[in-house]
Amino acid sequence: MTRTHDKDILLVALGGNALIRQGERGTIEEQFANLRGPMRQLALLAQDRRLIITHGNGPQVGNLLLQQESCPDIPQMPLEVLVAQTQGQIGYLIESTLEEELRCLKGRRRHMVSLISYVVVNEHDPAFREPSKPIGPVYSKEQAACLPWPMMLTPKGYRRVVASPQPLTIVEKEEIRRLVALDFIVICCGGGGIPVVREGRSFHGVDAVIDKDLASACLATEIDADTLVIATDVPGVALDYGTPSERFLSILTLADAERHLAEMQFQPGSMAPKVEAAVRFIHKGGGHAIICHLDQIAAAVAGNAGTAIVHG
Ligand code: ADP
Ligand code: MG
Repeated sequence: MTRTHDKDILLVALGGNALIRQGERGTIEEQFANLRGPMRQLALLAQDRRLIITHGNGPQVGNLLLQQESCPDIPQMPLEVLVAQTQGQIGYLIESTLEEELRCLKGRRRHMVSLISYVVVNEHDPAFREPSKPIGPVYSKEQAACLPWPMMLTPKGYRRVVASPQPLTIVEKEEIRRLVALDFIVICCGGGGIPVVREGRSFHGVDAVIDKDLASACLATEIDADTLVIATDVPGVALDYGTPSERFLSILTLADAERHLAEMQFQPGSMAPKVEAAVRFIHKGGGHAIICHLDQIAAAVAGNAGTAIVHG
């Protein structure tokens, strides 16, 4: 594709930990405070780059589900409506914090928009038969045994899981591309996007949560981003994670990434989709893909932190 932009396009996918850290309840004060550090880095990076921010919603969408399930008098909303709610709520938190950090830099005013985004999935995706996406709070083994939902043991503990189909295309990609070309900072694909299926000329939502890392890679490819950064709560990709021989990698080649994915080195629903997302982006012509800690986004973009996924 012919490059038409003068400044690099940076797409940063923020993990759920950007808002709620492990062990926290997720009060609004905690969420605003946690965003401060990542937003300070993004404000600096945005000085000479075009910027797109995507974000997870696992803890928030799980909490909304719990809230509505505890109040049977009010009609239950399907998951895709809850995803839409989290795009609004998290978009507001990110936008207002980033706006403040940009003002501190006293540069020219940057336009910014949080975009409700839909992502197309295949209604026959096998993921609908096998829930795999962890959402909501972490439970102990004893608590998990008493809960009525499908559960999965993650490195953080037991969590409820929901269906997570593959993202096929971002419905608003043209809108996002144009806004980015106008130098708007765009916050989009929140929670992996509102999952929709196509039926003739219409779309309708489906009960699922798309992985935000895979949706971010899809968007990064579709809008021809230069760099994809996936920011989370570990310094990068590790081999033998959580064991005495654990080692974090500064570089991971495509061939090694694919081999380790096949060997299940990376936990499904957490690190595996991040590596898969980086692999897809680089395979489809992306420039740089890095998985890093939320506190090291700027260092990772400069090549001094995180795991870079590279050809080879
Ligand atoms: P996010 O909200 O950022 O998407 P996730 O919990 O989905 O966060 O993914 C990050 C988690 O992946 C880490 O906290 C870590 O526990 C887990 N993880 C699983 N396997 C690995 C691995 N091989 N290397 C690093 N982290 C891993
Ligand atoms: Mg995740």
